[in-house]
This record gives sequence, structure tokens and C-alpha cells, in this order.
Amino acid sequence: MKFKATILKRYLADFFNLLFPDLCAACGQQLFHGEKQICTTCLYDLPYTDFHLYPDNPLARLFWGRINCHSAMAMLYFRKTSKVQQLIHQLKYRSQSELGVRLGEILGEKLLEGFTTADALPDLIIPVPLHPAKRRSRGYNQSQKIAEGISAVMHIPVGTTQLIRKRSTATQTKKNRYKRFENMKAVFSVPDQAALAGKHVLLVDDVITTGATLEACGQVLLDSGLQQLSIAALAFTE
Ligand SMILES: [Zn+2]
Repeated sequence: MKFKATILKRYLADFFNLLFPDLCAACGQQLFHGEKQICTTCLYDLPYTDFHLYPDNPLARLFWGRINCHSAMAMLYFRKTSKVQQLIHQLKYRSQSELGVRLGEILGEKLLEGFTTADALPDLIIPVPLHPAKRRSRGYNQSQKIAEGISAVMHIPVGTTQLIRKRSTATQTKKNRYKRFENMKAVFSVPDQAALAGKHVLLVDDVITTGATLEACGQVLLDSGLQQLSIAALAFTE
């Protein structure tokens, strides 16, 4: 009886899929059985950085002299009018929250390759927090979705209360670099400093351009007595 129910379920799922096929978030082609969110061709063709294999990669260098991080990596190169831009657009503006989890899983696999020993693994994954109003309008924090995907693969918990965002970033244009950094840092806070003391935290973001947000978040985390900070993002603008 149970066997029959399974077959029926599968049949209905196939039928539903015929009417409303799942499409690849990168190229729009119909997905086959076993493919999740992104088709095999796109998955193979994406411009991977392989930064996780090189500790002194261009992203790590971006943070040199700015923030003391143990490791920094971004999985993909972000280029305008590319499949990566399409994926990020779907994730941020098309309510494709599950795509964030899927991309996080792929990122998690790379991270596992990069952290070669078990004792090098982070204790906690913290996504860059989104302003509450933005989170409400989008319905989710895309960085949190990415963190959930990483968590599923690496078996490390996600923390969403340890780092919070207080208000929208004020207009930054007229301020100098130091003032801008101080201003940005004031946006983030760690409510319970003792909870993070001695921990290795993996800070997660979607796309890194200047690195200013991560620098501010990272510094606020480090100020609460972390043992180590690592950074991972989906994509990096060269
Ligand atoms: Zn595709």
C-alpha cells in the first residue's frame, strides 16, 4: 500500500512538473530529475574562483591591513550580464530563497575542501544581517539562506541573533574613509559579547564589492573577543 502511494506521489509530481516545470535559475531551461535550482550545464559552466584553495587569494588581499581574518573566499566571479548576475538577481529580487540555500550548499562543499583539518572548522556561521525593513519587504535575508545551505553541508550551526543591524546606513558620500567606516561599524552590534568570546566565526555575505560591509561586521565581531574570523561569499566583483 505504501509502495503504491509512493508511485502515485511520484506520478503526481511528474504530472505537476509537466504543467509547471522547474526552471534553471541561471539559464531558464527546464530542470531534469535530480537537478535542484540550477541545471547541470550551468553548474559546470559557472566562473568558479577556486579561492578556497589559495589562502592569499585576491579577496583575502582586499582585506589585508583592514581586518584580521583567518581566511576569506568567494565562490564565483561576479560579472555584469553573466549567469552569476542572473542568479544573484533571482536570489535578491525574485523571491528565490531556496536558490540561496542551494548556492550555500555548493559553497559549503568548497569550504570543506578549503578547511583541510577538522580543528580549523568554524564553530558558528553568521550571515551579514539585513536591515529589518528590507528583510520584511524581501521576506528573507539572502545571506541567511546561503548560511543555511553551508550549515547543511558543514554541520555547523547558523547564528542569527549574535550580530544585529540597528539602522539603515546613512548617506556616506560626503564623509572620508575613516568616518565612513566608523559610521558603518555603528550600524552593527553584538548584543551578548560573552557568547562569541573564543569562537571561530564564519561570516557570510552574498556579493562582495568594496568589502566595506564585511569589514565593519567583521570588526564588530572581532571586538567581542573572537578567536578567529573567516569570511565566505557567493561572489566577488573583480
Ligand atoms: Zn541552466
